[in-house]
Amino acid sequence: MKNKYMKVLSGICVMPLLTACGNRADTMQSADLFAMDTYMSIKACGPEADAALAEAEAKIRVLEQTFSVTDEASDIGKINRADGQPVAVSADTVSVLQTAQKMNRESGGALCISLYPVLRAWGFTTGEYRIPAADEIKALLRNADDTQIFAEGRTVRCPADTEIDLGAVAKGYTGDAVMEIMQAHGISSAIINLGGNVQTRGSRPDGTAWTVGITDPFAPDSLIGTVSVTDRAVITSGNYERYFTGEDGRRYWHILDPADGCPADNGLVSVTVIGGSGAECDALSTALFVEGTQQAAEHWRRSGDFEMILVTSDGELLLTEGIAADYTAKKEMPCRVVQRDEKP
Ligand code: AMP
Ligand code: MG
Repeated sequence: MKNKYMKVLSGICVMPLLTACGNRADTMQSADLFAMDTYMSIKACGPEADAALAEAEAKIRVLEQTFSVTDEASDIGKINRADGQPVAVSADTVSVLQTAQKMNRESGGALCISLYPVLRAWGFTTGEYRIPAADEIKALLRNADDTQIFAEGRTVRCPADTEIDLGAVAKGYTGDAVMEIMQAHGISSAIINLGGNVQTRGSRPDGTAWTVGITDPFAPDSLIGTVSVTDRAVITSGNYERYFTGEDGRRYWHILDPADGCPADNGLVSVTVIGGSGAECDALSTALFVEGTQQAAEHWRRSGDFEMILVTSDGELLLTEGIAADYTAKKEMPCRVVQRDEKP
């Protein structure tokens, strides 16, 4: 975990923090915490920065509890144990579920929050890794269908044998909630890193863009490049983040393809999504990873409200045209810019 923390911190370059503003009220304030099973850091500059950080930390703790899949009393715990009955939940839970369902539709089912029992069978929920038998996966997949989950008003209904987990979207949603708190406190310059999910508000205190590092999926302690952004979320899904090596010597990673319940292996090892909504970027990074190189490019062409940085399993870098000018390479690798009007 310590290593991951170091990696995460090294992934963001926020250098001239304390020198950018004169007095304490305008100094970049920061808070570090461990929540949602990951290290988080929040930095904000403005007269109300202290209050904003305290409120942000409190909100993260509430959402951590609300979205916890292991806590039987959490919203997700209650949904998973409701045996098909409607459950009263918080507005946050309905909202995050609606984002997940939108992305399930827009990705042709690639994002599937009801894969939880399959993830458990692989041991990704506990760290007790194993390779489940094909029959076991097949049986569990029968209950993995996000279209059967209904989230409206303050109520969620989920079929009796279906269980959900928000691992693919919770941190992005939480980042949006933190950014709303920043806005309410008049913070015009903030950057947060929730376990590698980076979200920015405005620009750095000196008016220049934020620089966010993109991890090298083949050497996760280093970067392939950086991207300059203002007011954007930069969220990555990668096969290097959580994985185990089977007795067969192969690597098995934590993002599963709902088509077969096995680690998604559709030509990509890393997907970074850059956009305005943390929840959507988080959902998208997981979905596009599953969709694979061709379908991810088509999804991007259809959508128009995000940009992406893909690394293929054979070591090529693909940048969509809207982000190419903001990308600075740190590693030499074959690179191609994906154009919107290109014929697939
Ligand atoms: P992320 O790092 O945002 O891509 O989220 C990956 C996490 O989402 C995994 O650790 C699982 O908990 C969960 N997950 C894995 N595969 C999927 C999938 N196809 N759809 C939704 N959630 C998934
Ligand atoms: Mg995600």
